[in-house]
Amino acid sequence: MILTINCGSSSLKYQLYTSDLSGVVGKGIVSRIGEACPYIEHRAGGRKIRQDVEAADHRMALRVAMESLLHPEWGAIKDVSAIEAVGHRAVHGGDIFVESVLVTDDVIRQLEQCTPLAPLHNPLNLHGIHEARRLLPGIPQVVVFDTSFHQGMPAQAYVYALPYRYYAEHKIRRYGFHGTSCRFVSGRAAEVLERPLQELRMVICHLGNGVTIDAVAGGRSVDTSMGFGTFSGTMMGTRSGDFDPGLIFYLNRTLNMSLGDIEATCYKESGLLGVSGVSNDMREVVEHAIAGNHRCSLAIDMFVYMIKKYIGGYAAAMGGLDALVFTAGIGENSPYIRARICGGLGFLGIEVDDLANDAVDGACAIISPRTASAATMVVPTDEEKMIALDTVHLTAGCGDHSRRSAQRVEAAAG
Ligand code: ADP
Repeated sequence: MILTINCGSSSLKYQLYTSDLSGVVGKGIVSRIGEACPYIEHRAGGRKIRQDVEAADHRMALRVAMESLLHPEWGAIKDVSAIEAVGHRAVHGGDIFVESVLVTDDVIRQLEQCTPLAPLHNPLNLHGIHEARRLLPGIPQVVVFDTSFHQGMPAQAYVYALPYRYYAEHKIRRYGFHGTSCRFVSGRAAEVLERPLQELRMVICHLGNGVTIDAVAGGRSVDTSMGFGTFSGTMMGTRSGDFDPGLIFYLNRTLNMSLGDIEATCYKESGLLGVSGVSNDMREVVEHAIAGNHRCSLAIDMFVYMIKKYIGGYAAAMGGLDALVFTAGIGENSPYIRARICGGLGFLGIEVDDLANDAVDGACAIISPRTASAATMVVPTDEEKMIALDTVHLTAGCGDHSRRSAQRVEAAAG
């Protein structure tokens, strides 16, 4: 079986897949790690449990997760030897990692070098890797990076117009995030369209709490809305997205805000929450807008408008558009926001069939009429599955178990 581990800021998600990745035999999340009252929610064998646990850090959280997977009553496996390989998510691979890799001591050293680029996230990913290597010695481990899908972007898309030495000496550039999601979604979209990925120019709209708009041409990310960090691009749940950087100096000098205050404001108090004054959750913002709340209406108008501009810009960058793909919490679940974003984009070949749009039910769906020149689609993202797929492929040569697993995935995929 293949175990995936995803260490987030205060949570650890895990999933245990069958070797051919056709099913999940156990999964869960340890939440509130390092905070008061951490707990685990675990599912396996048709049972769901929730328990308070001790999880002062991510290493302890992984031990808790493993105990649940091995639990005699609600576990999914009897012995750790059932686990053939482990896949980890890492947020930042800098410009070192252009694809997923097998974990070695060298890889860990290089991942440590990327830590200044994601000081809040990479150390947690490293904790997960160290602990998994300790608990599962000799089991091959793979690390999958949120940034690596974007590493093939052309320089014109990733170098900032600052003095060049900042890029050359300090690696200050656009990196982009949500790459694991965008890679999975673009691949699935091509499968659903039954067209070769290499032929397609797509814009992926990953609309969750964080938002990434990604231009994917020929299966490669050629431009992406997030940048050096996870701030830029369109407005998000609590993040501002793009604004004039001159404002930072103004807030600092004229309103006497410290850099820390400005960072917290732009990161945690802006976006849908900041403009609406109601919530960072799109469902609530839409509800209040319908009830007549003017600021909620404005927040939605801004959210939609910023995304439209990225779609138009990326269609221009790619010289056309074959598919527009919606994914993540808002993209998958809100027909209203999808319709608003697509409205007025007929000149790009984007049209929406209202019945098809309203009927989306959690599966992949094409929501444009057959006559539209660009396909508009909904593709549920599955970052864990992408991590598991990379894990199987990279560990295929590592041992009998993993080699057999890779053969089973190939067979299941036909
Ligand atoms: P994350 O970036 O944390 O992984 P998700 O992809 O789970 O986020 O998306 C979470 C967001 O999805 C929520 O904040 C909420 O705004 C939005 N969302 C979920 N369901 C709906 C819905 N039915 N309508 C509108 N927005 C929704």
